[in-house]
Amino acid sequence: MSPSPQTAYYREQEHGLRTPELNSIYSEILRRNPGEPEFHQAVLEVLESLAPVLDARPELLDARVIERVCEPERQIMFRVPWQDDSGQVHVNRGFRIEFNSALGPYKGGLRFHPSVNLGVVKFLGFEQIFKNALTGMSIGGGKGGSDFDPKGRSDAEVMRFCQSFMTELSRYLGEHTDVPAGDIGVGGREIGFLFGQYRRITNRWEAGVLTGKGLGWGGSQARTEATGYGNVLFTAEMLQARGEDMEGQQVVVSGSGNVAIYSIEKAQKLGANVVTCSDSGGYVMDEKGIDVALLKEIKEVGRGRVSDYAERRGASARYVTTGQVWDVPCDVALPSATQNELDLDAAQILVRNGVKAVSEGANMPTTPSAVRLLQEAGVVFGPGKAANAGGVATSALEMQQNAGRESWSFARTEERLGQTMRDIHETCRETAERHGVPGDYVAGANIAGFERVTDAMLAQGVI
Ligand code: GLU
Repeated sequence: MSPSPQTAYYREQEHGLRTPELNSIYSEILRRNPGEPEFHQAVLEVLESLAPVLDARPELLDARVIERVCEPERQIMFRVPWQDDSGQVHVNRGFRIEFNSALGPYKGGLRFHPSVNLGVVKFLGFEQIFKNALTGMSIGGGKGGSDFDPKGRSDAEVMRFCQSFMTELSRYLGEHTDVPAGDIGVGGREIGFLFGQYRRITNRWEAGVLTGKGLGWGGSQARTEATGYGNVLFTAEMLQARGEDMEGQQVVVSGSGNVAIYSIEKAQKLGANVVTCSDSGGYVMDEKGIDVALLKEIKEVGRGRVSDYAERRGASARYVTTGQVWDVPCDVALPSATQNELDLDAAQILVRNGVKAVSEGANMPTTPSAVRLLQEAGVVFGPGKAANAGGVATSALEMQQNAGRESWSFARTEERLGQTMRDIHETCRETAERHGVPGDYVAGANIAGFERVTDAMLAQGVI
């Protein structure tokens, strides 16, 4: 396999960062943040892109701006006790990492999943800084969540958990301070319970304190669809830069949550054939294309599994419990489930099957070695920071509507989302080209996001 020109630049750093300064910054981060592999991975990926910036602007090292951006402004961890329906008491752990507020209030979702720990929330918060900077909007970076597992819990249990979680978290929030939203395990139902408890505790109807709200009480049109739609629009832009479009492409999607569902819907609207979705139990291969109305009914209404989809869909769908969706031949792959779900082996299979584009709907779903392999094979690769920024960008539009006590139409909001994705694509494309790595959207996103946030930090003094 011959390396494409955009990755040749990075080959020399495969066993370390390109400059001794970056290497020692990274060693210090490893030393000070032990046992947080996902955070280390997210930091390393950004540092790997920064050598050309430091070549051009060595003064950034003196200002210690890299060390500053890698250190959260504030880290909050708290106890979340709650009672299940049988009266049994449970204790979970709550997190909110208020990572960077140079560009606006901390902004980022809450994840409720048993895999959540400090390192996971820090990786997500770190990614969010650059993602939010890329949107060009006034939003800083933050992330939170809990190791609470909502699977199999009743509505009443989820409500009690959310109320206990918000009872503590409310001290740190505010429309000008910190504005959470959803992520894995946190959707419209949870945002409702969290908003209710915040309102009750603070005695304020402060719509802009949470995004992803219901449409009848301050939510924005198109927020539900935004992350998945945005990723498909970003993919379409990347394909267009190569003279192609989504029409007729065979697409595989992983996951079956909010991001996956609306990626499938948008890809189909653009004429693609989407043949898979998945959950932790297995995946569905549907030759006729995923019936998105049926998938929504099963996942959004019934909180069911993709195995239920296969059962109800009939002959065209197969439920597979061995292997992964990446085994299915495709032109476009949209990992939309969770971190590190697409590894080197999977990337090799995708390349062997002739994949043209991979774009991250989830946060950091592709392992570093898989990204490298895909890029070296000439596959166009959209990093999550850029490709899935449509969700948080539409959250910023929700905040804007809340501040103006306005409610925009679906068409107007979707138009703004589309423009934002085109702008992010152009920013990444142009930045990569300017730094001598044309077509490398990873470098483009990291450099553009880094420069916007650190320029703001530098202008604001030693903060
Ligand atoms: N959790 C989403 C993300 O990863 C959305 C965050 C938000 O809307 O604040 O970007």
